[in-house]
Amino acid sequence: MRKPYWTRRTHLFRADEYICSACGRVSAKPWKTCPECGSIMKKVKVEASWVDEMEAVSAIVDDDW
Ligand SMILES: [Zn+2]
Repeated sequence: MRKPYWTRRTHLFRADEYICSACGRVSAKPWKTCPECGSIMKKVKVEASWVDEMEAVSAIVDDDW
């Protein structure tokens, strides 16, 4: 059985969100227990898809030295 955890979703222009892995509740803070289903949270996973996109752009290197 998998332990419940928060998935942290970061945004460029608004506050971070935390999503319960057990019930899918979106919360503004990583509570110790989920206010929806009561799961005891062990950890927070970070999900930052927009960071990958930014790094892909800055990885373009001018190699014409
Ligand atoms: Zn929950």
